[in-house]
Amino acid sequence: MNNQLIYNYKKTQRITQLLGKPKISDLEKYNQLIIVIPKKESKSIWNLIPQGKKIKELIKNYSKGSSPAITSRLKNTKQTSLHIGLLNSKLEAFDRLAFSRDMIKSVTQEKAGSLAIWVLGFETDFQKKFTEEILSAALVGQFILPSFKSKSPTQKITSISLIGLDKKMITKDIVAESDGNNLTRWLTALPSNKLDADSYINLIEQMSNDFNWEIDIFRSDDLKKMEAGAFLAVSQGNDNNSAAIIKLKYKPSNIEDSKLISLIGKGIIFDTGGTNLKPFNSMLEMHIDMNGSAVALGSLLAITKQKLPIEVDCWLAITENRTGPLAYKSQDVVKAANGKTIQTIHTDAEGRMVLADTLYFASLEKPDFMIDFATLTGTCVSALTNNYSGVFTNQPYMQTILKEIGEDCGERVWPFPIGSEFLVKLKSETADLMQCAPAGGGDHILAATFLNEFVEEDIPWVHIDLSSATNAGGLAHVPTKITGFGVRYLLNILKDNRILNNNKSKSL
Ligand SMILES: [Zn+2]
Repeated sequence: MNNQLIYNYKKTQRITQLLGKPKISDLEKYNQLIIVIPKKESKSIWNLIPQGKKIKELIKNYSKGSSPAITSRLKNTKQTSLHIGLLNSKLEAFDRLAFSRDMIKSVTQEKAGSLAIWVLGFETDFQKKFTEEILSAALVGQFILPSFKSKSPTQKITSISLIGLDKKMITKDIVAESDGNNLTRWLTALPSNKLDADSYINLIEQMSNDFNWEIDIFRSDDLKKMEAGAFLAVSQGNDNNSAAIIKLKYKPSNIEDSKLISLIGKGIIFDTGGTNLKPFNSMLEMHIDMNGSAVALGSLLAITKQKLPIEVDCWLAITENRTGPLAYKSQDVVKAANGKTIQTIHTDAEGRMVLADTLYFASLEKPDFMIDFATLTGTCVSALTNNYSGVFTNQPYMQTILKEIGEDCGERVWPFPIGSEFLVKLKSETADLMQCAPAGGGDHILAATFLNEFVEEDIPWVHIDLSSATNAGGLAHVPTKITGFGVRYLLNILKDNRILNNNKSKSL
């Protein structure tokens, strides 16, 4: 029953850098060479590139819009594969990342080996920015998701070098962010008989040990004492006692800022829908319903590796949502930890139940900012497709800022309203509020409005409904259906003064 999950979360990839214009002999070292130049390239650029004249001729015939524009080989002993991309520097971050994903795919479709990336012909700032973006794409693009085939796949890219830069680039933060995304995707991809609550919690304990995170594990008995009736309504249907709310704390010695940030994640190991059982199509991929907790944990890993000088709590609500004699039912009334009573309507709306108590516990610590991640509603996907995630906040002024941060980093969100006008739709005859509305649309808005009732007042709170947790063919820089969306977004929120310090001006 108890699986041991083995994941090398401590590993960091070293990125080598070769400064200045590379010589032809330098290029001998690499199996794969990506060169990205401006779409409107200047004539002189071809003199800088090996076999430039020939490539220029070939590129004339290239089919417009494909990335790479052309692949070729260098005439050296390694027969280095050449992938040339023509990039429009006016593209938005999302499109630049998607371009980068395609460039890396061109490499991983081959046998790969050592990879060098050379971005040239752009302004220095853009060159640096885009080199970071394509490096992100390489780090997530090379990563292998769990495989249970008798012959397991191996990583195709064996090393990554950045070449042609004038100044050494600091890559540690980009590597850390990718490590966070990779862990998130790895956990999310695991089937629920491999990643069960026990093995998940064991892995989290191991990580807390290795990274010096404080850890508190609140099991059912503790949660009964804490009167977490909303969480327990869901977890009572499990066939074992492994459900838990976990609190991790990252508090480095280099704290510069006394602010406390809380990350909260929905960790439904498998969502059958419960007593209101899901049909086949809707249940098929419900092992991914713990993705919110994986985003929170992956973010904490990235924050730790980036050594950010802030204090972070990370709350994970881990349970299954099962059918069975003990499972909760429609019309059950339960009392949440903050004293509010909830009339159960639909047992498949379990995410908001487990988050209700978890958000309340998180907000008791009076964080300066809290954000939760959850694959919460189907209506959010209907509203946005899988290309965007939904964002909700109790601080209306943040809406445009949150949207802008998403646009700037390429993990995009779209804001929706919450508030008292929607709370009316959750008015209950028998309890303080209904869990969801029995009919009518906009469940993502009602779900967020419901969650708002469990966040202590005055604490700035953001809820992300992860409609882009999966997207066929990948999303932005990520090539797999499971996107790991959220880690990059969160790290960019933490860098933005307008959110954490309520500054009007944008930080760098
Ligand atoms: Zn559900």
